[in-house]
Amino acid sequence: MANVFLTRNEEEQELMIADIWCGKCQEYNMGVDEPHEYAGNGVNFLEGKCAECGNTVVLEVAPASV
Ligand SMILES: [Zn+2]
Repeated sequence: MANVFLTRNEEEQELMIADIWCGKCQEYNMGVDEPHEYAGNGVNFLEGKCAECGNTVVLEVAPASV
């Protein structure tokens, strides 16, 4: 499946990443490696790895309006 995240504009990507909480770092906006967005049940999920500690982080996001 296509990685929806890469179709979003830079501003949107930054906003989404700023919203991601890393449970290990106990911080928001640590940066995300290998971000991948996929469709869930009515919502999308953005999953990646915390750029700081490598912990898997997941954010629930609104589906992209294409
Ligand atoms: Zn982290």
